[in-house]
Amino acid sequence: MLQIHWFRQDLRLTDNPALTAACQQGLVLPVYILDNLNAGEWAMGGASRWWLHHSLCHLNQSLSGNLLVLQGDPCELLPSLVRATGAQGIHWNRCYEPWRILRDTRLKEQLHDTGVQVESHNGSLLWEPWQALKQDGKPYQVFTPFWRRGCLQGASPRQVIPAPQALNFPALGTSPYAERLGESGIAALNLLPHQPWDRSMRSTWKIGEDAARQSLQTFLDEGLGDYKQGRNFPARPHVSRLSPHLHFGEISPHQIWTEAQRRGIAQEADENLECFLSELGWREFSYSLLYHHPSLMRKNLQQKFDHFPWQNDEGLLQAWQHGETGFPLIDAGMRELWQTGYMHNRVRMVTGSFLVKNLLSHWHHGEDWFWDCLVDADLAANSASWQWIAGCGADAAPYFRVFNPVSQSERFDPQGHYIRRYVPEIAALPDRYLHNPSAAPTAVLKEAGIVLGKHYPKAVVDLKQSREQALAAFKQLGSRGQVP
Ligand SMILES: Cc1cc2nc3c(=O)[nH]c(=O)nc-3n(C[C@H](O)[C@H](O)[C@H](O)COP(=O)(O)OP(=O)(O)OC[C@H]3O[C@@H](n4cnc5c(N)ncnc54)[C@H](O)[C@@H]3O)c2cc1C
Repeated sequence: MLQIHWFRQDLRLTDNPALTAACQQGLVLPVYILDNLNAGEWAMGGASRWWLHHSLCHLNQSLSGNLLVLQGDPCELLPSLVRATGAQGIHWNRCYEPWRILRDTRLKEQLHDTGVQVESHNGSLLWEPWQALKQDGKPYQVFTPFWRRGCLQGASPRQVIPAPQALNFPALGTSPYAERLGESGIAALNLLPHQPWDRSMRSTWKIGEDAARQSLQTFLDEGLGDYKQGRNFPARPHVSRLSPHLHFGEISPHQIWTEAQRRGIAQEADENLECFLSELGWREFSYSLLYHHPSLMRKNLQQKFDHFPWQNDEGLLQAWQHGETGFPLIDAGMRELWQTGYMHNRVRMVTGSFLVKNLLSHWHHGEDWFWDCLVDADLAANSASWQWIAGCGADAAPYFRVFNPVSQSERFDPQGHYIRRYVPEIAALPDRYLHNPSAAPTAVLKEAGIVLGKHYPKAVVDLKQSREQALAAFKQLGSRGQVP
């Protein structure tokens, strides 16, 4: 009995419930479909496409070159594939982006009508968004009760499923599909950039299922021990950097959960472990928000923000995007993003706050830029986090909490290791002025060989003034509209 396993955000063999179910029923035809059509404006950005290329190459190797790679609308491609191969079943792991839910529902109905068996599984969340609900059956809007009551007090996440012992593939013979097998199918997607902007990304990341497992082990050995404090310091190796692996499903949250718990069992009530698991909880919460608020990526959860007087200055937005604001922590973060496709969480919060609150640019501009540049760009986490930063989200940072990029920098990068790495043109400044070169005395700048406006930008805004302007604009909103 031939079964199709449709790979989506689950580019792995271990702990892949849909793949395992397909294997148990006979020969398996593994297929990946790049679907820009249904994704619409949420088609993958440049950095994600780059990651996907390499991830598919690794997956294809694990499948001995048998991954069939297609591009187009799965609602047309999969029924055709079923007809051409005589497959009797299709298996996939669920995705939760609104456009995917619509498409998959439509596809399921279509396939049922043809008599094909369709099975979907949970491969990417510890708890389904429809499981973690309040007692009244409504979704949680606040993280802590969601996590403590909705998730941790519910059923434990399932056990990790081993990779299938043997995978048997059908022969595609001389069918036109044979041309789309493996590397030639991946190359036809044209995912890699035509300009070589990915050079430093290549040296930053190891991609694929084995690399994801290795990153988890390294983090558990070297990072977890001081996660709670260390995770705030962008130059310290205390975060896992698992987000792109998780996004593409090279590793599942269940694998991370199980391995981390195993390490943590030695120390009772380990606050580092608890804090790390709760970050996985924020991922679950983001998915819950997206599932229950399908316009999360565009619509303010607090409607009063619909009336916010954004200024949307194009020049300031570009200075932010290019890391040319004159605030070294902001510029370091934006350049880290551009060079590596990643930005440390603390710096994501500070750069996000700066864009929205000091530059008064709509959070959609930040969301779109991150969408294009992040290798972990994830509709749930990105939309929920931008709403959180802007203050318009369900459980958002209050609007009046404006991160000060200078004091954040002094606190979380005191010796300037992170700044000197990404903003080398000011490396010669003493630590005291590194965080805010615009405040450095002329003699200090001269000694360091820096002319502001020539070697490094002058600050694009006055922090105090822009903060007050933002708070005044916020005050005008009053208390119109609550979270629905
Ligand atoms: C403005 C903004 C945009 C963001 N956009 C994304 C995005 O597109 N994709 C993305 O995966 N994360 C996003 N985040 C959340 C967070 O910054 C990243 O998940 C984290 O930096 C990834 O690094 P890590 O794997 O080393 O995290 P760790 O600290 O090691 O955490 C482990 C895992 O927990 C999850 N996680 C951690 N923090 C959060 C969070 N706040 N929200 C949701 N999940 C979290 C991630 O899956 C992460 O890999 C965003 C945060 C902000 C402030």
